[in-house]
Amino acid sequence: MTTIAFIGLGTMGGPMATNLVKAGYRVQGHDVDAARLRAHQAIGGIACCTIAQACEAADIAITMLPKDAHVRSVLLGDDGVVKHLQPDRLVIEMSTISPDTTMEMARALNARGLRMLDAPVGRTPRDAEAGTLLMLVGGELADLEQVRPVLDAMGDKTIHLGPQGCGIRMKVANNYMSMVSMVLTAETLLMARQAGIQTEAAVEVLQNTAAGRGQINVNFPKKVLAGDLTPDFPLSLGDKDISLGLALGQSLGVPLFLGAAARQLFGLAPAFGRSDQDCTAMLHLLEDLVKGGERCA
Ligand code: NAD
Repeated sequence: MTTIAFIGLGTMGGPMATNLVKAGYRVQGHDVDAARLRAHQAIGGIACCTIAQACEAADIAITMLPKDAHVRSVLLGDDGVVKHLQPDRLVIEMSTISPDTTMEMARALNARGLRMLDAPVGRTPRDAEAGTLLMLVGGELADLEQVRPVLDAMGDKTIHLGPQGCGIRMKVANNYMSMVSMVLTAETLLMARQAGIQTEAAVEVLQNTAAGRGQINVNFPKKVLAGDLTPDFPLSLGDKDISLGLALGQSLGVPLFLGAAARQLFGLAPAFGRSDQDCTAMLHLLEDLVKGGERCA
């Protein structure tokens, strides 16, 4: 039987460890919170008071901890995983932390003869309970294949994104989009409400437009990402629409911080010869700016 040391039995880690127990693994759970340990024992897991106990004879160690400092101390601390896991065993680091820390962990573990995958998760605590998490994996493909059944017990989709560090970098990029979209959604709903529109009606509209359903679902795959810049809707008209939105927000006294920044980008399209291209050429406009040094040279 595969033995798994699972460290961090919180909102996410608790139900993830439960699903591993349900799948038939021996799960040696450790958490600094005694209530979390009792809960782990209650569902059939092995409650371990120390990292050393959790790692005893473990084939795999999983960490699901709040922040960088917790991960660093659990993996590399004086009494950390690195001291107790047998050589060549695999660590799966699943917390959302800084990619720099992830790489620091990977280098330190590799230097001590341990392998590491970074495998942060997408989705929610409800998905952790249902076993429907999304696994974003960075590391050796062979290591992923070895533990794929373990990941499958906790999630319903695993995506290999490249070498060590790529999983956490994608997670950070995803969360950036998620959090900015939080502000954009709030700005838009507030503008609609201040303009006299019932929020329920505004939500119904947005759930049925590209704006609400997400450019990544609607326009990007079939236009710029398919190499097609012919305008379904050109950047010049996008510039007009964002200006209309900003003017409405101004007349209503609604701050549109993201809109102001976006308007600047749309306004740069003529300078880069992109006004007549599809709006999704915004991706290339940003690339133009990143390559700005080369253009000037
Ligand atoms: P949480 O705070 O509920 O759980 C973390 C657990 O780690 C706690 O039980 C805590 O006691 C334990 N812990 C802290 N330090 C420890 C140590 N030194 N040794 C052993 N145990 C220790 O957090 P969470 O919501 O489960 O999130 C865990 C990670 O997953 C975070 O990085 C978070 O950003 C990420 N994440 C969370 C969600 C979410 O919706 N909650 C979704 C995706 C990813």
